[in-house]
Amino acid sequence: MKTPDQRATILIVDDAPDNIRLLGSILNGEYQVMFATGGREAMVCAVAELPDLILLDVMMPEIDGFTVCAWLRDNEKTLDIPVIIVTAMHDADAETRGFASGAVDFLTKPVNPPSVRARIAAQLALRRQRNELERVNEQLRELAEFDILTGLPNRKLFQDRLQQAVRAGERNQWTFALLFVDLDRFKWVNDTLGHDAGDTLLIEAARRMKSVVRKSDTVARLGGDEFTVILSDTLQESMAELVAHKILEQLCAPFTLKGQEVVISGSVGIALFPGDGATASELARNADSAMYQAKEAGRNTLRFFSQELNRLVCRRMSLEREMRQACQKNEFFLDYQPKIKSTTGQIMGMEALLRWDHCREGILFPKQFIPMAEGTGLIVQIGAWVLRTACRDAACWADDGFPDLKLAVNLSALQFREGDKLLHLVQEILQETGFPARNLELEITESMMMTNTEQVSATLWQLRAMGVTIAMDDFGTGYSSLALLKRLPVQVLKIDRSFVSDLHLGSSNAAFISAMIAMARELGLHVVMEGVETAEQLEILKSKGGDDVQGFYFCPPLGRAAFLELLHGRIPLGGGAGVPFFVHS
Ligand code: C2E
Ligand code: MG
Ligand code: MG
Repeated sequence: MKTPDQRATILIVDDAPDNIRLLGSILNGEYQVMFATGGREAMVCAVAELPDLILLDVMMPEIDGFTVCAWLRDNEKTLDIPVIIVTAMHDADAETRGFASGAVDFLTKPVNPPSVRARIAAQLALRRQRNELERVNEQLRELAEFDILTGLPNRKLFQDRLQQAVRAGERNQWTFALLFVDLDRFKWVNDTLGHDAGDTLLIEAARRMKSVVRKSDTVARLGGDEFTVILSDTLQESMAELVAHKILEQLCAPFTLKGQEVVISGSVGIALFPGDGATASELARNADSAMYQAKEAGRNTLRFFSQELNRLVCRRMSLEREMRQACQKNEFFLDYQPKIKSTTGQIMGMEALLRWDHCREGILFPKQFIPMAEGTGLIVQIGAWVLRTACRDAACWADDGFPDLKLAVNLSALQFREGDKLLHLVQEILQETGFPARNLELEITESMMMTNTEQVSATLWQLRAMGVTIAMDDFGTGYSSLALLKRLPVQVLKIDRSFVSDLHLGSSNAAFISAMIAMARELGLHVVMEGVETAEQLEILKSKGGDDVQGFYFCPPLGRAAFLELLHGRIPLGGGAGVPFFVHS
């Protein structure tokens, strides 16, 4: 295309040199003029030079002008070049044939110079306008179909291409792969280095991804940091895997953002047509879900779509969604399991255990949803509800004649993230419910101490100063460190039930338990043993000298109403005839 200051080029085709000279003199100065003296020469010149307009004689030896004109129209390179027929033939039939062969205008010899110039100018102006229109159209198409930032196809064009790929796959019975790629830590870059850096990262990531696929493949940006890749014909899974690995490698290499080296990674989900989806939308949904699985698996990795995993992920996602509302919908409730003094069978207290009464799934137990609640951070809110509800219940039981029961509540590591908030919460709840701090026992686990040890420890000491008891739960399963135990204000050690479950005389667990109890004595700690299920286990534990026991042998966790019945002696405590049953009074 020519810029306005360049003169347009006109190709004059005529077998008579006089005619060429005449036309040339009419146009010279205003246009750049080229000549051809025959049909064949005209075709060659038109294709090579792409003139802006052609003045074409009809009667020429070898090939006539109509044929040349029709040929130019059929040729992709020349079909847009306007052709004006210039002929000595005066009949209407010639004119008709001229237009039929694709000419845009018709001049008769001898030519009238001003008319030639006017017709040419008109055709060139028309052509310019058409070109501009096309350019605008092209821009509009780009805006509608391409992502402005990265220049990649956007969601709309991706969907079109995916549809095409599915149709081609159906027609030719071949397979292809769809990849969903998500950048790990993109949000972090945006938040810490700013949106400019985020944009640079996206542009560079797009470029790198394009560099590892073929021209015929599509790399698209769906929005945010979500990309897709259509590998147009993937014969085997291994090919898709190879490309996915290359993409991961590219994304792992450091990016330079604002003069700083930044390392991120990617997660890739792969779905194969037609096995993982016979329609574009199903395939996209499943590639997306596979990508989610890759993220779950710890990022910087790839996952093929799997129906089974998909079911799990879908369930997880809906549980996660529903958990947000479960608090308001009152779907959580607490069970209480008594703790019993091993020597007397007296109920010393109870542990509050969280349950979720889910509308579809029935009652869910902690291991089915606590990890999720920790993953989403919801555990902080839920944990506060647990503490408040448990203290309220225990305060009621105190009023009902059981004022010395110790209430144990489990805490999650996340609740210690903002130690001050936890302290305030405990204080507020104790005040609000009137439950005494000395009867509250907070259970923590060793794994909780693995990160942020100093901060957690400081908060524990403050809780202790408030009069609250700290218990180390599941002791023996984590990184049981004596040094740690000595530094923390722990007063109660709960020996994990895995040691109790396989307990019989002479077992190695019996030796472990002896050692743990001896150590606890040394440190002046109170010992609770969890998971007591049989009389034999109880006997061994008693002989080792543990203080309290907790387990199905005596009682499973009970609902609030049932627990009160238990306290009143209207439900018998288990443990068979051999165990004396006392109710604390
Ligand atoms: P945990 O604190 O060690 O609680 C004791 C678990 O052992 C309870 O499981 C209880 O039902 C079970 N158990 C008690 N006696 C026996 C027995 O004789 N045999 C066997 N096999 N199991 C027994 P549950 O209720 O499923 O709770 C599991 C874990 O979930 C708890 O372990 C605790 O770590 C956590 N958890 C429970 N409620 C809460 C809560 O409100 N907040 C937090 N953060 N964690 C909680
Ligand atoms: Mg516990
Ligand atoms: Mg435990």
